[in-house]
Amino acid sequence: VAQEYSFESKIAGSAKAHEQAKQVIPGGVTANIKHFAPHPIVMDHASGSRLTDVDGNQYIDYLLSYGAMILGHGHERVKEAVYQQMEQCGSFVFGTPHHLEYKMAQKLVDIFPSMDQVRFTNSGLEATLLAIRLAQAYNDKPKIAKFEGHYHGGYDQVLVSVNPNIDNAGEQAEPNSVAESSGMSDSDLDDTIILPFNDLEATGAILRKRQDEISAVILEPVQSGFVPADESFIKGLRQITDELGIVLIFDEVKTGFRLTVGGAQHLYGIEPDLTALGKVLGGGFPVGALGGKFDLMNLMSPERGGDILTSGGGQKVTDRALFHSGTYNGHPTVLAAGLATIEYLEEDGVMSDLLRKTEQLRHGLETVYHRYGLPMQTVGLGTIFNIILSQETVRNYRDLTEIDLETRKQIDYELLDLGIYTKPGNRYSMSTAHTEQDIQKTIDAHEVAINRLLN
Ligand code: PLP
Repeated sequence: VAQEYSFESKIAGSAKAHEQAKQVIPGGVTANIKHFAPHPIVMDHASGSRLTDVDGNQYIDYLLSYGAMILGHGHERVKEAVYQQMEQCGSFVFGTPHHLEYKMAQKLVDIFPSMDQVRFTNSGLEATLLAIRLAQAYNDKPKIAKFEGHYHGGYDQVLVSVNPNIDNAGEQAEPNSVAESSGMSDSDLDDTIILPFNDLEATGAILRKRQDEISAVILEPVQSGFVPADESFIKGLRQITDELGIVLIFDEVKTGFRLTVGGAQHLYGIEPDLTALGKVLGGGFPVGALGGKFDLMNLMSPERGGDILTSGGGQKVTDRALFHSGTYNGHPTVLAAGLATIEYLEEDGVMSDLLRKTEQLRHGLETVYHRYGLPMQTVGLGTIFNIILSQETVRNYRDLTEIDLETRKQIDYELLDLGIYTKPGNRYSMSTAHTEQDIQKTIDAHEVAINRLLN
C-alpha cells in the first residue's frame, strides 16, 4: 500500500482537506470504503464523465459513485426533472402519498416481470433488509442463507463472510460464517448460513440439509457486480429454492439497470421472488426499492391491520402489517431524478451504445496488457467490469483471493496521476457520458502506467 503519492504536490489540497476532516469525522470519511492510503482524493465538482478535485486536477471517472451515475455527472435531463419537480410540488417532501410514487412503481412493475408490487426505501441496504424481514415473516424460519463474498449492505444479518480472511473461512464447499465487523453478535453468525457461489451441488446440499431452518436465499446474481453467476447455477438455484419453498431474493442494487435495463433477471430469464434495487434507480440521489410477488409484498399492507406506530399495539404481531417505514421513503425529488434516468436509458440506442462502449474499452485494455505480455482479463457483464491480472477463470470469492491485487493497485495509483479515477482495486463502471476520446485516453493511460511499473 502506497505510503505517499509520487504526485503528492499535485494533490496538496486533498491532503489538507483530509487532515481537517479527520478532526471531526473518523478517518476523514463518511463511509469506510471511501478511504484509501495515504489519503483519499477530495473532489470539488464534476461534469459528464469527469471529476475535478479540490486542486483542479481532472479525472475520467470510472467509480461513478459506485455505479450510481450511469448517465455521468449532472445530466441535463435529470437536472431538469429535479428542478421541475421541486418547482411543481412547491416543497421537497410531504410525508404523504404523491403521484410520482405510483408512477415509479408502475414503471418498475412494467420493467420487471417478477414484480407485482414495489416499496421504496432510502438505500439499497434498507431494501435488502426489508426483503429478508418479509421472507422471514412469510416462511417463519429463523435463518437466511447468503453467498460468500456477496455484499448486501452493512447490517449485522448480512455483514457476514463478505470479505473473510481465508484462514477462518472454512471449507470451500461449506464455508464458515465470519463476522466482517466488531460489534456483531454470535447469534447473527448462527442465523446466517454461508453458501459457495457458482457451486450448485454444494449449495443444493447445504440448502437441503438445513431447509427447515432457512427462510430465504439472497444473492448478487453478479458477485460484486462483475463475477457472473453461471447460467446453469442460477437456474438450478431457482429450481431448488422453488422445490424447498425458500424465498429467493435477487440483490440487484448494482446490476439493476446496468446489465440491461431489466437487470440480471432479464439477462438470465429468471424471476426471483423478491428484488432489491438502488443506485441507478435514484439518478444520483439516495434510494432503494423492493419489488416482488404480491403474496410477499402484501404482508406489509396496512390494510391487513395496524402497525406498531398506529393502532396495532394490542394486536398479535403476526396479524399486523409487517413493519416498514421511513420519513423519506418515496422522496419526490429522488423519484423524479430516477424516472428521468430510467426513461433516458429506455430510449432507442442508449443502452446498446453504452454496452458497445464498455466492450470497446474492455477490448482495448486487454489488447494493451497482452501486448506487454502481462496476464490480464477483464471480467464482467453489461456496463460493469473489473481488471483481473490473471488468466485463471474467476467464478467466486475464493478465486478472487488468488489474484494479484497489489500490482493492480499500483497501476491504479499511477492512473490517478494520469487522470483516470477509480478507487484503487475497484471495478470499472461505465456511463453514457463517456466518449470515444475518454476510452482512448484511458487505454493510453494504462499503457503509460504499465510502462512506469515495468521500468
Ligand atoms: N447490495 C449491493 C449489491 C450493493 O452493491 C450495495 C451497495 O454497494 C448495497 C446492497 C447497499 O446499498 P446502499 O449503499 O445504497 O445502502
